[in-house]
Amino acid sequence: MNYEPVIGLEVHAQLKTKTKAFCSCPNVFGENPNDQVCPVCLGMPGVLPVLNEKAVELAIRAGIALNCKIADSTKFDRKNYFYPDLPKGYQISQFDQPICGPGHLTIQGKKVRINRAHLEEDAGKLVHAGADGLHGSDYSLVDYNRSGVPLLEIVTEPDIESADLARDYLTELRNILRYLEVCDGNLEEGSFRCDANVSVRPVGATELGTKTEIKNMNSFRSVQKAINSEIERQIKILESGGKITQESRLWDDNSQTTHSMRSKEEAHDYRYFPEPDLVPLQISPERIEAIASSMPELPEARRQRYLAAGLSEEYAVILTESKEKSDFFDQTLALGTPALAASGILINDTEKILRDNNLDFSQARFTAQNIKDVVDATASGQVGSTAVKNKILPRLITEGGNVTEIIEKEGLAQISDESAIKQHVEEILARSQEQVESYRSGKTKVRQFFFGEVMKATRGKANPKVINELLDQLLPEPEQRQ
Ligand code: ADP
Ligand code: MG
Ligand code: ZN
Repeated sequence: MNYEPVIGLEVHAQLKTKTKAFCSCPNVFGENPNDQVCPVCLGMPGVLPVLNEKAVELAIRAGIALNCKIADSTKFDRKNYFYPDLPKGYQISQFDQPICGPGHLTIQGKKVRINRAHLEEDAGKLVHAGADGLHGSDYSLVDYNRSGVPLLEIVTEPDIESADLARDYLTELRNILRYLEVCDGNLEEGSFRCDANVSVRPVGATELGTKTEIKNMNSFRSVQKAINSEIERQIKILESGGKITQESRLWDDNSQTTHSMRSKEEAHDYRYFPEPDLVPLQISPERIEAIASSMPELPEARRQRYLAAGLSEEYAVILTESKEKSDFFDQTLALGTPALAASGILINDTEKILRDNNLDFSQARFTAQNIKDVVDATASGQVGSTAVKNKILPRLITEGGNVTEIIEKEGLAQISDESAIKQHVEEILARSQEQVESYRSGKTKVRQFFFGEVMKATRGKANPKVINELLDQLLPEPEQRQ
């Protein structure tokens, strides 16, 4: 029997607010444990939460970008459970009136429906200490700095049919949240966390199979691997006549397998009830409109614009990988730089130079004007592409500067003066009778030899186009070889 996978994703995105969701503690990562806490986020008795307006705004921004219906009326609920990372004994979340949803994202032409995106607070962080960590721990420590950090939980319908599509959905979702400055999308620091729900069913079946939920993946690569490994595991069980147990499983990057975490989860009764300390929230159409009109152009719209400007799909994707890169490219376009030339420099040459120098795009020192100047200098024949790649761009990227000055200082100007190059060509042909003969006899590959000699004689500065034109003129007509 053939099986097909069914995947639904739940993403917890930490919102980029200055302060926490319900108190004024800073929302920061990496501080000393329990340094960023107050009676509210420590769950002391008698304290009251105050909703962070910025968190609401960021949730609405994200909702609009995810084509979600934004609720005109929304409220908070208590989700009750007992765990040491949750000092109040409940999490403030949203149960039946989420702020956003339903919506959808289109990934590779496939529609992934979004069931909901709701606001909630993060829990503290348990550190399993002693012995050898998690499983062999002697004791656990808890850090409440994360307690009360605002989260947007974004839940898809089970619409995702492969691990690749899951990865692409997550990549696009994270990209959108970064463009919107809603979430910094850092998987290692846990500001963008993903749980994957996976089941399989016979191809063509309409009912869903029993799902497992995979946690603990801290890169898109591991999400992809974890899903594929889980699909395989489930198919094996079903093929040998077994049944899938509904449970949570942990991905282990070292062993590249999942293992069962707990199956008690399903028995949970969270006893949701409306949060009595927060009033329901009304969101006016005017507020939604104001937020919508302040949003930047999103990656998909930019990709479409780049395709229309003649770029390939691949280039359009690479240029929109970050807002910074795409904004930079747009600046070069705004200066009138031809799209193809600018993208060629930004993708091929720049990426290699960044890699060679171990730099991020954000660390590059060049400006959009630099790119325009380089493109212009190349088009006019002032410099050759080799000089651009090997000398000018590396300088601009690592140090910054002015294109004309670099060309002058480094003596990189190309010789395009035909009569100057012609002299060299004539000289070389005159002293290379043997090669000229073999060219005439049909060994046209020898042309490269002449080209190389001219380059050598001009120390690489002759304009290749001019050399080729002169060779066309001055070399004898080759005989047709039989
Ligand atoms: P739970 O109550 O276990 O949290 P939900 O209905 O809230 O389940 O769904 C959680 C996530 O699991 C959603 O993304 C949903 O699309 C996905 N999901 C639900 N059922 C399945 C299934 N049979 N196979 C794969 N994913 C599923
Ligand atoms: Mg759920
Ligand atoms: Zn606090």
